[in-house]
Amino acid sequence: MRKPIVVGNWKLNGSSAANEPLVLGVLDGMRELAGIDVGVCPPLVYLSQVAKLVEATDLGLGAQNCAEHDSGAFTGEVAAAMLHDVGARYVIVGHSERRALFGETDAVVSTKVGAALGAGLTPILCVGETLDEREAGETEAVVRRQLAAVIAGNGIEAFEQLVIAYEPVWAIGTGRTATPEQAQAVHAFIRGQLADHDTAVAQSVRIQYGGSMKPDNAAELLAQPDIDGGLIGGASLKAEDFLGICRAAAQTVG
Ligand code: PEP
Repeated sequence: MRKPIVVGNWKLNGSSAANEPLVLGVLDGMRELAGIDVGVCPPLVYLSQVAKLVEATDLGLGAQNCAEHDSGAFTGEVAAAMLHDVGARYVIVGHSERRALFGETDAVVSTKVGAALGAGLTPILCVGETLDEREAGETEAVVRRQLAAVIAGNGIEAFEQLVIAYEPVWAIGTGRTATPEQAQAVHAFIRGQLADHDTAVAQSVRIQYGGSMKPDNAAELLAQPDIDGGLIGGASLKAEDFLGICRAAAQTVG
C-alpha cells in the first residue's frame, strides 16, 4: 500500500503576511487527518519563515526548484543542500513551467534530481505532455522520454527515493482537469515503464496527479489505482481548498 502524498505548489504567490494564516490553517485541519503525507512549497525567500511554522509538525516543507550545481559561480541559484539546510524535505524538479519558460531540458532535470537526492531531499519529479503532444498521440512517448533521462542519469534506484508527479500541461492552471480515466492510463503507463527496469520499484513509487485538482474532483482522481496523491497549484493557496483535497486523499486509506 502506497501512502498518499499531497503537496501544494504555491508558485510565485505568498507574502510574509499571508503565509502564516495559510500554513496555520493547513496545520489546524491536518489534526483530523491521518495516513497521508502533506507538504507545501512556498517561494524560496519564505522557506525559513514557513520552516519555523511547520517545525515539529507533520507538514513537510518543499522548494519549487533547485540548482544543478552544489556551489560556485552561479549567480541567483540556490543549491539543494541549502534547501535542506533551511528545513526543506522536498523539491519540485522539472515542473512544466520550468521546462517551458526557463528552458530546462530532460538532461538538466535529470541532473537536478541527482543534486536533490545527493542533498537528502525527496525530488518531486514532474512529467507530462502539452496539448499539442496529446493531440498528436505523443503522450506516452513524451513521458517515456522524460523518465528515461532520469533513469539514465540516476539509475532506477533513484525512483526508490523520489515522487513522480504526472502533470498534463494542458490541465495546469486551466481549470481543465484530466478525466480520471485519462490520468489513470498515464499513471499505469509510467508504472509499466519503471517495471521494465525493476518491478518492486515500479510498485512502490508514488505517482501524484497534478492539473487543476480541486476538492470537488479530487476524490474520483484519487480513487484510481495508480494515483497516489496530488501536486496542487491554485487550490493550495486557500487552506480550506487544500484541506478538501487532503481529506479526499485520507479517505482512500480508510
Ligand atoms: C501545478 O502547478 O503543479 C499545478 C498542478 O497547478 P494547478 O493545480 O493550478 O493546475
